[in-house]
Amino acid sequence: MTDTMPQHFDVIVVGAGLSGIDAGYHLQGYCSNKSYVILESRDAIGGTWDLFRYPGIRSDSDMYTFGYSFRPWQTDASIADGESIRTYVRDTAKAYGIDRKIRFGHRVKRASWSSADALWTIEAESGPEREPVRLTCNFLFSCTGYYDYAAGYEPQFAGADKFHGRIVHPQHWPADLDYAGKRVVVIGSGATAVTIIPAMAETAAQVTMLQRSPSYIVSRPSKDAVALWLRRYLPTKVAYAIARWRNALYGLYLYNRCRTKPELVKRFIIGQARLQLGAGFDVKTHFTPRYNPWDQRMCLAPDGDFFRAIKAGKADIVTDEIDTFTETGIRLRSGRELPADIIVTATGLKMQMLGGIDMVVDGRPIKFAETMNFRGAMLSDVPNAAHVFGYTNASWTLKADLICAYVCRLINFMDRRGYVQCTPRQRDPSIAPEPMVDFSSGYIQRSIGQFPHQGSKKPWKLYQNYVMDTLSLRFGPVNDPALEFSRRGESRQAA
Ligand SMILES: Cc1cc2nc3c(=O)[nH]c(=O)nc-3n(C[C@H](O)[C@H](O)[C@H](O)COP(=O)(O)OP(=O)(O)OC[C@H]3O[C@@H](n4cnc5c(N)ncnc54)[C@H](O)[C@@H]3O)c2cc1C
Repeated sequence: MTDTMPQHFDVIVVGAGLSGIDAGYHLQGYCSNKSYVILESRDAIGGTWDLFRYPGIRSDSDMYTFGYSFRPWQTDASIADGESIRTYVRDTAKAYGIDRKIRFGHRVKRASWSSADALWTIEAESGPEREPVRLTCNFLFSCTGYYDYAAGYEPQFAGADKFHGRIVHPQHWPADLDYAGKRVVVIGSGATAVTIIPAMAETAAQVTMLQRSPSYIVSRPSKDAVALWLRRYLPTKVAYAIARWRNALYGLYLYNRCRTKPELVKRFIIGQARLQLGAGFDVKTHFTPRYNPWDQRMCLAPDGDFFRAIKAGKADIVTDEIDTFTETGIRLRSGRELPADIIVTATGLKMQMLGGIDMVVDGRPIKFAETMNFRGAMLSDVPNAAHVFGYTNASWTLKADLICAYVCRLINFMDRRGYVQCTPRQRDPSIAPEPMVDFSSGYIQRSIGQFPHQGSKKPWKLYQNYVMDTLSLRFGPVNDPALEFSRRGESRQAA
C-alpha cells in the first residue's frame, strides 16, 4: 500500500502477545462483522514469553488464571515454564486462525485521530528497511504490554567497563552464554532474580544474589492438586472454569489479607523462609523486606526451589550495596569483594505506555500523564481507543479477558446506535487523580509519572479486583455517563 492509499480496518490491534491474541479471539467471536488486523513489531507471537529467554523463565501466576478464559490450560504444571506459555499462546492463535491476521515486523510509531473523519491513521515502520506503512481504522486497540522492548533498566555501575567477565541483562539473554562451572553474581531481588538463581545454580559453580534490600518470597507447589483433581472427574471446560474462579477468588482473599493484616502476613512469610532455611540462617537480614506484603509484587519460589538452592549451598544471598565493579567481580560498600565470571543485572524493566506510540488527537499530542484511565481500559479525551493493562496483584490475563470482552460490547453498542465516536470525559471536579499503580517498586516509581492516572472514584478508579471488574466490564452498562458518544456529522472535537 502506498502513502496515498492507506488500507482500512474496523479495528487495529497493536501487539501479538498474550493480550493481542486475546483481542483477536474476542473480535472474531463477538464482532464478527468487523475487519481487524494485528500489527506486531517483532517477528513472532508471544510478546513477553517470546522475548525473555533467561534460564528458568516461568510464570509466577498459576496458569488457571493466567491462561485464557476460553481455552483451558491442560498441562499438569500450574506454574509453567516460558516455552509452554509461548506454545500455549501460539497454539491459541493458530487454533482460531488469529495467526493469519497478524502482520509481523510492523512497529507502530504514531496514531492520529481525526474527529472530522472519526478515523485513526496509523503510521508504522515495516521490516528491516523501516519502510513507512499507513493504515486507518475506526477503533484502535493497544495490546503492547507495559515495558520497553528495546532495553531493560540498567543502572550505571561504577567500574563496569573494567570487569573482565560478561555482564548480561535478562531481557537480552545471549543464547551462547555458558555458565556451567562459573561464578555468577545476580544483582537484584525481584521475580527475575528469584527465578534465575535456582535455574543457574543447577550447573554454575556458585550463584550469589546481591540485593540492596530483600523482597517477599513465597513458596507454592508448582502443581495445583485441586485443579488436577477437578480435571480428573469433570469435563475439561467445567473443571478449568471452577479452578480459574477458585484461584482468582483465593488470590483476592490473600491480597486483601495482606492489606488488612500486613504484620500477620509478614510474620507468616518470613517464618516460612526460616522454616525452609533452618534456624542458623540470617533471615532477618536477607528475607525481611522494608515494606509490607503487596506494596510490591510478591516473588514466587515454586516448590521452594529458591530456598532449596540456598540450603544446598549452590546459591547464597548478600545484602549490601555496590561500591564498584572490579576486573574480577564486585566490591561492596562493606569492603567485601564478590568474585564473578558472569554478572547478571536483574535490575528490572523500563516501563512504557502503549508501546511508545505517539498519540495525537485532532492535531494535539497526547501526554499520557495528563489523561485518566476510564475503567482501566480507555483514556480520557482519547476517542475510540482502548488498551490492555492487566492486574498488578493477580494474573494479567484475568483483566485482559475482561477488557477484550468490554471493547467488543462497546463496539457493538456503537454499531447498534449508529455512533462513530466514543470518548471518555472526566468532568467531575470531585474526582482526584491518583497514580495508576501504587507499588513502591523501583521500576514503577521510575516511570509512573509518565503514565495515565486513575481517579479516586468510579468509573476512573482501578480496584485491582476481578469480581468488581467482572461486574463492571462484563455486566455493567456500556452507556456510561462518562462516555461521550456521537454520530457521523456530529463528531465533536476532543476537549
Ligand atoms: C519475565 C516476566 C514474567 C512475567 N510473569 C507474569 C506472570 O506470571 N503473571 C502475570 O500476570 N504477568 C506476568 N508478567 C507480565 C506480562 O508481561 C503479562 O502477563 C503478559 O505477558 C502481557 O501480555 P501482553 O500481550 O499484554 O504484553 P506483551 O507480552 O508485552 O506483548 C506486547 C506485544 O506488543 C508488541 N509491541 C509493543 N509495542 C509495539 C508497537 N509500537 N508496535 C507494534 N507492536 C508492538 C511487542 O512486540 C509484543 O509482542 C511477566 C512479565 C515479565 C517481563
